[in-house]
Amino acid sequence: MPASPYRGRFAPSPTGLLHAGSLLAAFGSWLLARHAQGQWLVRVEDLDPPREVAGAARAQLEMLGNLGLHGDAPVLWQHNRHDAYEAALKQLLDAGLAFECHCSRSDLAATGGIHQRCVARVRRADPAVRLRVGGDSIVTFQDGLQGAQRQDVQAEVGDFVLRRADGCWAYQLAVVVDDAYQGITDVVRGADLLDSTPRQILLQRALGLPTPRYLHLPLLLDAQGHKLSKSDAATPLDADHALPQLRATWALLGQAPAALDAADSLSRTLQLALQHFDPAALPAQRQIYAAPHNRVATGAD
Ligand code: GLU
Repeated sequence: MPASPYRGRFAPSPTGLLHAGSLLAAFGSWLLARHAQGQWLVRVEDLDPPREVAGAARAQLEMLGNLGLHGDAPVLWQHNRHDAYEAALKQLLDAGLAFECHCSRSDLAATGGIHQRCVARVRRADPAVRLRVGGDSIVTFQDGLQGAQRQDVQAEVGDFVLRRADGCWAYQLAVVVDDAYQGITDVVRGADLLDSTPRQILLQRALGLPTPRYLHLPLLLDAQGHKLSKSDAATPLDADHALPQLRATWALLGQAPAALDAADSLSRTLQLALQHFDPAALPAQRQIYAAPHNRVATGAD
């Protein structure tokens, strides 16, 4: 049988423990990759030491293992990838597509933080590096779940940061370099990153890299309508409740709950999930509530 060209991934930042929203992205991307008989990889996006929580990356990987979600290749750690980001940045600087920027936050306040040209009055010792977003920066793409998307990157985002003034690599650069390095064909992640995708597509074009397909799953909200966030200590996943957590996530992914009724083990749950997974049933919404009223009322989880 020819190998499927599908390669997906789950790429958590170790800013805290995985929660129900992380599982939606992890399980959703795993199901789509397995359904396509493709591969599924895990990448630790440990790029931002100030925001990282000690031990979180290991705990996240352990939790994925407890949920039976195993990658098909060794985990890629972004802290080992600095040379690749440096090379990509040099390529952009040499081509005149990126530039050192001395603007401060207050310099950009007048334009709502959007950088359209340098207005710095003083040179900084630690300039950021930005991508020069030209006039022709209207990006359109078809999201696999959210439909047709369009962003005028110059007007809505401006020249964006590739390396921060504190020396950290920006997520946008690293994600593009690593998705290409890992041969990712299908990026499946939360809809909070839908707005980042046009920037990533512009960067892929600037670096001569392929653009994967994108599918953004709904973002999970708590009962108050806030995004569940690792750094805000959303209730973490619990290794002792792997089955109910997978079942709840399965339902949030729009799949028929009864399909998993017969499963009493982790491996059987995942097997039945793969057998019954229907991508057409995924909810084409930007946001969903973690605990719909009917599930709370019936105590279903
Ligand atoms: N590292 C990002 C996060 O934890 C996800 C990046 C991506 O999937 O592109 O939110």
